[in-house]
Amino acid sequence: MSDLDLARSPAIRRLADWDHQQLQSLAAEYGTPLYVTDLERVKANYRRFSAAFPDAHVMYAAKAHTGRSVLEALLSVGADIECAAGGELKRSVDAGADPNTLQYTAVNPPAHDLDYAVDLAEEAPGLTITIGATDTLDRLAERDYDGRVAIRINPGIGTGHHEKVATGNDAKFGIPYEQVPEVADRVREEFELVGLHSHAGSGVLTDDLEDHCMAIERVGELARRVGGVEFVDIGGGFGVPYHEDEPPLDLEQTAEMVREAVGEIDAQLKLEPGRYIVADAGLILTTVNTIKETPTATVVGVDASLATLIRPAMFGSYHPMQNVSAPDRETEPVTVGGPVCTSADVFATDRPIARPERNDILAIGNAGSYGYELASQFHSQPRPAEVALEDGTSRVVRRRETLEDVTRVEQ
Ligand SMILES: *Cc1c(COP(=O)(O)O)cnc(C)c1O
Repeated sequence: MSDLDLARSPAIRRLADWDHQQLQSLAAEYGTPLYVTDLERVKANYRRFSAAFPDAHVMYAAKAHTGRSVLEALLSVGADIECAAGGELKRSVDAGADPNTLQYTAVNPPAHDLDYAVDLAEEAPGLTITIGATDTLDRLAERDYDGRVAIRINPGIGTGHHEKVATGNDAKFGIPYEQVPEVADRVREEFELVGLHSHAGSGVLTDDLEDHCMAIERVGELARRVGGVEFVDIGGGFGVPYHEDEPPLDLEQTAEMVREAVGEIDAQLKLEPGRYIVADAGLILTTVNTIKETPTATVVGVDASLATLIRPAMFGSYHPMQNVSAPDRETEPVTVGGPVCTSADVFATDRPIARPERNDILAIGNAGSYGYELASQFHSQPRPAEVALEDGTSRVVRRRETLEDVTRVEQ
């Protein structure tokens, strides 16, 4: 695909748009549960997002999916990477990122994460550390760091699809708005003040845009007050529609609103989407192992669980689901749950799906972000494999764990 084609790619890839025949073959070849990540779609999402913000710098927030194949794919189309932990810095360097381009957002940073970042910065003075507390400045000074620092602002306004991810008005994140000018003075004395940063939520769709832009407005105001910074980073948080009938974010409109909210700034605008880049590029394939008729529901048991995808249990999130073995069968409302002994281990209740039968393969859509990333070995379940699609072929990019992997660190 040419650059232009990638930039013009559709705004959302629905679960129904995937090649069901191919998904069935992948399940047969690699087994289930299986994470499938389409790297072409990852790249297309990045290109399309960047094209909507032509004079801004778009980074990828790694924590949505830190798989090496994803980082490599994004680096190949010119993305820089925003990291929120030392491990993410390490993964980015391993994937081939120039450490000079990395941005490390330190939230209550553990000592070893700060050590790692400061060590990296010694060789790579272009690395930027974003602080959200003056303690972090003290701790950087203790490590003789005097390099690039950005200040994360708590704009006092938060937005997002769930209160647990609306970070903007959460005291945990960033320097309180009123304190920023004073902290900026201190940073200028002891470090190199390069940017102002804010990340005020997640899963922002058109309806939340106005609130989101109020937070961005405050960042723009501060940028004018503080002055003399290289960049203003308004974070990520751009949403994708999880429900089939929800419209995707209008990127052109979003870009316009963001521009207007930031206002005139003498600095580069930066954005750092995570979810938007990878969500619809990934799905989970799972095999039906049980069908149980009860007086209240038809229960469909599958081999994926909340250990595979925790978003439904953690946020009550809706994920689209389809029977890829028999998409044309009549639909029936069913409850789909996994093997974990808690009532939270349910992907859907009363969901109309082409009537599943034992051994059918179901696909769970929009699992590319915060999917594998939040996977666990709960119930002593080895983590599933991940397969990447690129250049018309498939390859395993993370092997399926074994029971030995589950007990490996015990002594
Ligand atoms: C999580 C995070 C992002 C990405 O958020 P999305 O909702 O996935 O776009 C960006 N910046 C920071 C600092 C984050 O913590």
